[in-house]
Amino acid sequence: MFPVTGTWTNWGGTVSYTPAAVITPRTVDELADEVRRAAERGGTVKPVGAGHSFTPIAVAPGVQVNLSGLRGVRGVDVDRKRVTLAAGTHLHEIPAILEPLGLAMENLGDIDRQTIAGAVSTGTHGTGGRFGGISTQICGVQLVDGTGTIRDIGPDDPDLKAAALGLGALGVLTEVTLQCVDAFAVRAAEGPADADEVFDGFADRVAEFDHYEFYWFPHTSRTLTKSNTRLPADTPADGPSPLRRYIDDELLANRTLGALSAVGSRIPRIVPAVNQVVGRAVSARTYTDRSDKIFVSDRGVRFREMEYAIGAADVPDVLRQIRSLIDRKHRISFPIEVRTAAADDLMLSTATGRATGYIAVHRFHRDDLASSQEYFRDVEEIMIAHGGRPHWGKLHTRDAVYFREVYPRFDEFLAVRERFDPQRVFANPYLEAVLGA
Ligand SMILES: Cc1cc2nc3c(=O)[nH]c(=O)nc-3n(C[C@H](O)[C@H](O)[C@H](O)COP(=O)(O)OP(=O)(O)OC[C@H]3O[C@@H](n4cnc5c(N)ncnc54)[C@H](O)[C@@H]3O)c2cc1C
Repeated sequence: MFPVTGTWTNWGGTVSYTPAAVITPRTVDELADEVRRAAERGGTVKPVGAGHSFTPIAVAPGVQVNLSGLRGVRGVDVDRKRVTLAAGTHLHEIPAILEPLGLAMENLGDIDRQTIAGAVSTGTHGTGGRFGGISTQICGVQLVDGTGTIRDIGPDDPDLKAAALGLGALGVLTEVTLQCVDAFAVRAAEGPADADEVFDGFADRVAEFDHYEFYWFPHTSRTLTKSNTRLPADTPADGPSPLRRYIDDELLANRTLGALSAVGSRIPRIVPAVNQVVGRAVSARTYTDRSDKIFVSDRGVRFREMEYAIGAADVPDVLRQIRSLIDRKHRISFPIEVRTAAADDLMLSTATGRATGYIAVHRFHRDDLASSQEYFRDVEEIMIAHGGRPHWGKLHTRDAVYFREVYPRFDEFLAVRERFDPQRVFANPYLEAVLGA
């Protein structure tokens, strides 16, 4: 599963490698020339975003493309609320672009360090029973395909169902057009709750709140729930200020979690007692702010992560199986994160064709590697038994044989890949494993 050795290292420290060459194109034509040259000599090209994937999906055995030269706004269609961004734009740069237009992204994940192209290429998502992942907000892309041809794929083009979540297998995205929504505020209500009540009430809470998620503290009956409600943009901000929330999160969550994880990593037998203390320390708070400021937070503690998408109705059962597994075999300091998404129709979306529950498990980055891998493999077995689909950017051991079973449109995606990248200019070992050689 990891590590892969070399000199470029991802955020989680699970992958590092040395690319043969690195290029930073300033124009799309420059990039297209590079892809054409690679195709002629039988080489490979692979863009890297912010390196926040845990899997080796971004490994570039040949030429690594740094997209920091392709950032910012490329076009705005105010009437249709559409904004076209250069593909290397980071998510944290987008609110400043959208706010003056009175627009926002419909939904976001936990952090905003990723590039828009990297985020959509692995199916990055947030939470919300009526909302899809970030790729579902895409209504057009421009990419350089494996022959060096620049393709524009619009909202009615059936290839968009592949290209909006393409694993980097179809081409180098150069522009992404977002279907935005009117700017909105969010009221966040956080608080402690009993684990069994939260497991059983998952479907009801998902239906009740726009964006619902929770964290369960292993070895305890405690959870922290987050119930977020969308409000008009002019709703005044209230509750602790962003600075106060940052200090709370940084000092009381990130730093405390980091310190406790470090102790638990050295002395695993104290983890259950530590989790009891942490779970008891969770308190209620309510605050309102601009949507992106509520969705996104800081992740100061390094970890390794596996996340599976399962049918939303299976969440309580799967969580109980994971609880029983942990009680039998493992000492886990990191809370387990549970989220949701609406069904969509993208070929390789983890939520394709079914209302989805996401369960993410983590290990501290300094935890013993063998013990972390064993934990992930044990949890993965439970997920597989429920037809789970792993996040493309988070650790897993599945291959093309499995994906053909759990993705009804898998072969359609392969057919698009055959047209877009017949010579496999964008191949790497990860794509070979998950899509087949
Ligand atoms: C702390 C942390 C928090 C996270 N939170 C969430 C979360 O809340 N929800 C969630 O779903 N995921 C989450 N993730 C996972 C993360 O969103 C994904 O792994 C995402 O792909 C990372 O984006 P990136 O820009 O770092 O891309 P990278 O990891 O650098 O690359 C990912 C893939 O995109 C490809 N790619 C990059 N640019 C292009 C391009 N221009 N054209 C074509 N392909 C391209 C790469 O080749 C690679 O295949 C989190 C990860 C971390 C480390």
